[in-house]
Amino acid sequence: MPMATVLILPFVFKRSQDLDEVTKKIQSNLSMPCKLSHLHFNHHYAFDTVRDQYHSTRLLKGLETQIEQKENKILGITHLDLFIPILTYVFGEAHLNGPAAVASDYRLNPQFYGLPPNPELVKERLIKECIHELGHTLGLRHCPNPQCVMRTSTYVEEIDLKLDTLCSRCRKMADIS
Ligand SMILES: [Zn+2]
Ligand SMILES: [Zn+2]
Repeated sequence: MPMATVLILPFVFKRSQDLDEVTKKIQSNLSMPCKLSHLHFNHHYAFDTVRDQYHSTRLLKGLETQIEQKENKILGITHLDLFIPILTYVFGEAHLNGPAAVASDYRLNPQFYGLPPNPELVKERLIKECIHELGHTLGLRHCPNPQCVMRTSTYVEEIDLKLDTLCSRCRKMADIS
């Protein structure tokens, strides 16, 4: 099976200066070639008026329809505040072995928590979040290795404790040499 290409689709995302490094890291850490999409993605349908947030599972459905070829994965990168019904918020979402992933920088910014700005930290967190969600699309579940990017993160500080790379066990499971 040829390695899937990742179509990166930014929508409502201002930190476009980070996209270059996000792309490079996905290519190097997951060995997946990336292509930047300039499509306009209509996200409004996923808005929940009660929660004032965007339903990430609904976004995944819409993103799936934007995939150009069957073997491709799509990664939506956004600044929208995402949720799933059972949680207050999510940093991103993807289904196991699914074609689509979404990641948000909304809650990755220290300023969101009343802390001083740190653009480099936001970028590092976003890279980890993107690689984590794409890992799910490659069939990877959460990993107990504290440094592995597939380690689950509920709070933003937990993202900082892990690396942006897969551990050797996850690499093997995802069939990345
Ligand atoms: Zn996860
Ligand atoms: Zn792992």
